[in-house]
Amino acid sequence: MNAPNDTAHRKVASFEIFHTQYLDPEGRPTAEWPVWAQKPESLRELYRLMVRTRVFDKKAVSLQRTGQLGTYAACLGQEAIGAAIGHALAADDVFMPAYREYAAQFARGVPMKDVLLYWGGDERGMVYPEGTPAYHDFPLSVPIGTHVPHSIGVAYAFKLRGEKRVVLVSCGDGASSKGDFLEAVSSAKVWDLPIVFLVNNNQWAISLPRQKQTGAQTLAQKAIAGGMPGEQVDGNDAVATREVLSQAIARARNGEGPSLVEAITYRLHDHTTADDARRYRPDEEVQAAWGNCPIKRTKAYLQRSGHWSDADEQRLLAEAAAEVEAQVQAFLDTEPEPPAAIFDTLYESLPKSLVWQREEVIAAGPIGEDH
Ligand SMILES: [Mg+2]
Repeated sequence: MNAPNDTAHRKVASFEIFHTQYLDPEGRPTAEWPVWAQKPESLRELYRLMVRTRVFDKKAVSLQRTGQLGTYAACLGQEAIGAAIGHALAADDVFMPAYREYAAQFARGVPMKDVLLYWGGDERGMVYPEGTPAYHDFPLSVPIGTHVPHSIGVAYAFKLRGEKRVVLVSCGDGASSKGDFLEAVSSAKVWDLPIVFLVNNNQWAISLPRQKQTGAQTLAQKAIAGGMPGEQVDGNDAVATREVLSQAIARARNGEGPSLVEAITYRLHDHTTADDARRYRPDEEVQAAWGNCPIKRTKAYLQRSGHWSDADEQRLLAEAAAEVEAQVQAFLDTEPEPPAAIFDTLYESLPKSLVWQREEVIAAGPIGEDH
């Protein structure tokens, strides 16, 4: 019989959670880099994508502030996560985003104009161009975590068909407390599905801080309950995030099942343009978080190692500004859909109860004429 204090014999499970970082906030390497990252062009590509995304993000907020866009969720300070996803996934994998990974969408072929259309209330913005990797990706999911169980269905389909494709589904720290997320994590390993759960832990779920989200020490350890590998990565380090995601994706593709990655970052902007974070979080916290900016550290490394010049920077900023301006113009020039379009993307075939409503909307004519 084991004595009650004989912990070595009574222990039935144990686990550890690891954190990966390759590039510190000052842009100094903290470990030997993976081979792909040692090619300067790999890092320059990630850097360009993050900068283009930031220029887009700033413009989208300005459009909202001037009444030209609906509510918008900024990705300020979280560009590395989207960029890493965009570079880690293969073309025929499927990305199921929450709503801050614009860089991944741009990398996979979603025009910036389409993201603006979506936040402008036009569903055509989520019909991604044929022939791009994004074509099979899912729309943004504004409802928190409801798309995570859908990712199980997509991954199961790949398994049934014997396809070597992987699903990457992203959600926030808040979503990781929801039943949708926990049920999906439970199912993924039971069925050994080719899926990667990415939890974008930006420390805030609207106004709820991370320490009130869960008593768990890490969000990565939620993987342990599902029986899969779980790890943390510095989500403001594009090299580490790209590498950790690539490894998880490779495991899924090789039939080794699901993984969960918690990317640590910080939401530098309000939750959305409908929020004012100054009402619930101290300015000092935000100022301190700017020190971890993913773009700043990547640029510092590239410049120090002689792989990025002031001329390169000026050229990139000019190109990004021109690209964003052209995409904004294309968005503003898009003819609005007729009001009845709100029925078009709800169902494969419209139920009778909505058919007559749709007919009434059509009969009422264009909005604004009698009001
Ligand atoms: Mg959050």
